[in-house]
Amino acid sequence: MPVTPTLEADVLRRQDPELAEILIGETVRQSTTLQLIAAENFTSPAVLAALGSPLTNKYAEGYPGARHHGGCEIVDMAERIAVDRAKALFGAEHANVQAHSGSSAVLAVYAALLRPGDTVLAMGLPFGGHLTHGSPANFSGRWFDFVGYGVEAESGLIDHEQVRTLARTRRPKAIVCGSISYPRHIDYAFFREVADEVGAYLIADAAHPIGLVAGGAAPSPVPYADVVCATTHKVLRGPRGGMILCGSDLAERVDRAVFPFTQGGAQMHTIAAKAVAFGEAAAPAFTAYAHQVVANARVLAEGLAEQGLAVTTGGTDTHLVAADPAPLGVDGRTARGRLAAAGMVLDTCALPHGDARGLRLGTAALTTQGMGELEMARIAALFAAVLREDVDSKRAREEVRELAGRFPPYPE
Ligand SMILES: *Cc1c(COP(=O)(O)O)cnc(C)c1O
Repeated sequence: MPVTPTLEADVLRRQDPELAEILIGETVRQSTTLQLIAAENFTSPAVLAALGSPLTNKYAEGYPGARHHGGCEIVDMAERIAVDRAKALFGAEHANVQAHSGSSAVLAVYAALLRPGDTVLAMGLPFGGHLTHGSPANFSGRWFDFVGYGVEAESGLIDHEQVRTLARTRRPKAIVCGSISYPRHIDYAFFREVADEVGAYLIADAAHPIGLVAGGAAPSPVPYADVVCATTHKVLRGPRGGMILCGSDLAERVDRAVFPFTQGGAQMHTIAAKAVAFGEAAAPAFTAYAHQVVANARVLAEGLAEQGLAVTTGGTDTHLVAADPAPLGVDGRTARGRLAAAGMVLDTCALPHGDARGLRLGTAALTTQGMGELEMARIAALFAAVLREDVDSKRAREEVRELAGRFPPYPE
């Protein structure tokens, strides 16, 4: 079984066999099961090479040309390339590529635009809002006064009338659009209009769709939002990390909110890996990839609907499918367990109405492996068979192993 391209397996095996076993075990797990987690992907060997490089040794507080540490001349070049590539890829006036994660990016954006106690309008957590959109367990819910909007009961689509009404009555300082499980395109022009009407900032948390935006397979929030925050590791297929895009007018505030307000030293190995990923995302092959991700998700959604699952909004525009398995007589948690036993790895997610949990799936990782519509149809059928217990989990596991084996994420 090949290990990850940059994993110096022999060095690690000799020095620390215990950890080497774990790294190899995880690599085997990833390549012999189906990664249906909507937020995951397989980074390229080039991205892994940058991540596993000596750039991790470098301290670099500050920004290129203005660091608090010596010896930053070379890593400065890496960060400038990452910033320039991000700006070009998304047509943004300014990019900050230092945020350690998607959540760190959101924290920094709130720090740049808001004061503690300010009112913020965002998708409510039961409808697909992220932790950083006002969860009481998160800094956001404790430090800001979050108001949640939801989705229409019938269609599952964002309740635009409610957004407008809440904006008018609660006068938020900022409106957040973006979700962890909403499968449809977001109408950024609508959110811009409402934000303008009530004098609010518009923050697009595009952590999920930003990779589709890069590949031209989803509308861009950049022309509409005051600030866009995103992750680099979901559909975008880069290293685990965050990114912030904004106009020149907010550039300084955003940069200062990342460093020194919420972070210390930049992670230069990750920033170099982000630069590599932005380079990959600018190539025509990535445009084809992004469109295939969506085509695959559509087939998966159709397949699951045909099998009787209640697919949220009736389908998808993106990489993401949310579905309630209840019509098959199984709840979300039980479903996740049965699927895991068969080697199909996915998340549960909140369902808009009631306490039951649904299933959230995505096609970013499977598509990177080279799977297409044919495989999606097969996965949908096997998925439903596992949920109905029409196939025993050992047989299903064998089928999954065979399918995954034909599409190795790291072939060489
Ligand atoms: C994934 C996600 C985040 C957070 O990203 P992390 O890197 O896990 O911190 C924030 N917002 C949304 C909408 C997300 O989907």
